[in-house]
Amino acid sequence: MANTGKAFIVSRGELQSLFDAVIARGFMPVGPIVRDGAIVYDELRHVQDLPEGWTEDQDAGTYRLKRRDDKALFGFNNGPHSWKQYLFPPRSKLWQGEKTEDGGFTVEEAEDTEKPFAFIGVRACDLHAIQVQDKVFMSDRHPDPLYAGRRGKALVIVVNCGQAATTCFCTSMNTGPRAQGGFDLALTEVLDGDDHYFVAEPGSTAGFSLLAEVPHTEADKDNVAAALECTARAEQQMGRKIDVSGVKELLYRNYDNERWDALEKRCLACGNCTMACPTCFCSKVEDVTDLTGDHAERWREWDSCFTMDFSYIHGGSVRPTTRSRYRQWLVHKLATWQDQFATSGCVGCGRCITWCPVGIDLTEEVRLIREREKD
Ligand code: SF4
Ligand code: SF4
Repeated sequence: MANTGKAFIVSRGELQSLFDAVIARGFMPVGPIVRDGAIVYDELRHVQDLPEGWTEDQDAGTYRLKRRDDKALFGFNNGPHSWKQYLFPPRSKLWQGEKTEDGGFTVEEAEDTEKPFAFIGVRACDLHAIQVQDKVFMSDRHPDPLYAGRRGKALVIVVNCGQAATTCFCTSMNTGPRAQGGFDLALTEVLDGDDHYFVAEPGSTAGFSLLAEVPHTEADKDNVAAALECTARAEQQMGRKIDVSGVKELLYRNYDNERWDALEKRCLACGNCTMACPTCFCSKVEDVTDLTGDHAERWREWDSCFTMDFSYIHGGSVRPTTRSRYRQWLVHKLATWQDQFATSGCVGCGRCITWCPVGIDLTEEVRLIREREKD
């Protein structure tokens, strides 16, 4: 098995003890729940809050919840949310300032008052997405205090995938469906007739000590084989694939490929793909004051490279066409990201495909760019 090589069994009935142990340690547990017709992330204190017996149909521009014929607790794939909303919140205060009586100004950095998060149900691709954002926000030279603070305290509980959506392509990106390390605890949900249990693999000291508070037994080789079978099934179901061999050079050679023109006609520049993507990190900064002008605040908010304003520099936008903005996004994800952060900016989660209102699919776009180049 991954990481420590140790595997244990936690029965379905004992899963609440894991939640209780997480809460007792002062973490705020967040994980998947059903809300507004989708599986999203929110505070999660009880096993009953999980999407028991739910799954979904996903395809380009399509997401529909549906019932499973079993009582799986994690029998679904990624929804519209990702963990970045906790580590890099959509809106966060950077500082606030007050005018002083002598006409000066005092500035106070915003304090993060959130409890440490315990992420429950992180998929392997999303664990990689967190590691990609670590490179962006926790570099030696300019670490982001909010991100670094939250990330340093977070507890990560992975749930390996037992199925894949038609939009998933983590195997192409070498990011899943089985987490290989970088977690505190990894669970694989096994349903075998009336047997319903989790194969638990601690990946850190925190994971071991958490598991010590949860009733468990040692996994035997049949349990381990059953867990490996789950992720093998997900691998076989992988709905999409992408050929990433030489993709950086391919995209750099193809700034004028005719596919970009086709995207000019299709893409709505709505920015959904960037909001749903677990690695996108563009933001803008806004200053606000009260009516008296005595109190001012600076806020950071998610932004998107698809907005005209994002590349506005002194009198005009550097990327005035939708064609140029889609090209910037795709080339950044798969090519320039490698130069900047020594990793791909895409982990193959498929969210940008599902949540694109017109069903634009980056795997298809890369395939067509390759084809058109040959032509
Ligand atoms: S680019 Fe698309 S598939 Fe890749 S990580 Fe972002 S949302 Fe997921
Ligand atoms: S690719 Fe799709 S989701 Fe992204 S900006 Fe264009 S229309 Fe919106």
